[in-house]
Amino acid sequence: MSVRYDDFDRLEVLTRITGSLVNETPLRVGVGREPSLGSAVDLAPLRIRFADGRTKPYIPGSSLKGVLRSLAESIARTQGPSVHDPWDFKTAESEAESKNYCVICGTFGSTKLASHVHVYDAYPEGEAPTFVKTGVGINRDFRGVQPGILYTEEQVAPGVRWSFKMDVINIRVLPEPVDDRGRLLRRVVDMLVKGMVQVGARRTLGYGLLRLEGGRYEVYEVKGGALVKAREGGIP
Ligand SMILES: [Zn+2]
Repeated sequence: MSVRYDDFDRLEVLTRITGSLVNETPLRVGVGREPSLGSAVDLAPLRIRFADGRTKPYIPGSSLKGVLRSLAESIARTQGPSVHDPWDFKTAESEAESKNYCVICGTFGSTKLASHVHVYDAYPEGEAPTFVKTGVGINRDFRGVQPGILYTEEQVAPGVRWSFKMDVINIRVLPEPVDDRGRLLRRVVDMLVKGMVQVGARRTLGYGLLRLEGGRYEVYEVKGGALVKAREGGIP
């Protein structure tokens, strides 16, 4: 039986997951390898300017979605079915031709299939204090930083709360998943709740560790042509 994951012609169910992400360790989601223009440090966090003119670090939804996808891939790998690289365009193409998508593309999308998961940018709910540390440029990950010379890196201090919002389209995740994709997403959400997800730079040092607090879900279903809230609750 082939499973139709290209089901965007009709919206059946939308699950919105919200809560606060807390970074348990220092965090920096940067702009590639380049220091941001006008920054006093060599490696600075991405920032966004708010209407009142203030700027704050933030975590782009695309970065969060990327780590959730990698996590889902590693979970799927332990369960047997082969998981292809997200940039394996040939496989994405052949999946589209046969209309038989793998569980990962069927959830997070591919070059040929829209994503069933949308993760919003996460902004600090309050202040987001940062600190600057000095390192020695010996790491190949820091292109543009000369080997042997000192560089400065700005990180967001631990304990900052970030608003989290994620929409899941046409996959039932909560309160109970009903298919492989839902079960996979549920495990990913569990790992967020348990504080086992890392985002940003210096993950090998344990940086960027996130934990979801006060997680909630709302399930919307289409009834009589309108999107109606059918269920809601906390994420245990
Ligand atoms: Zn695939």
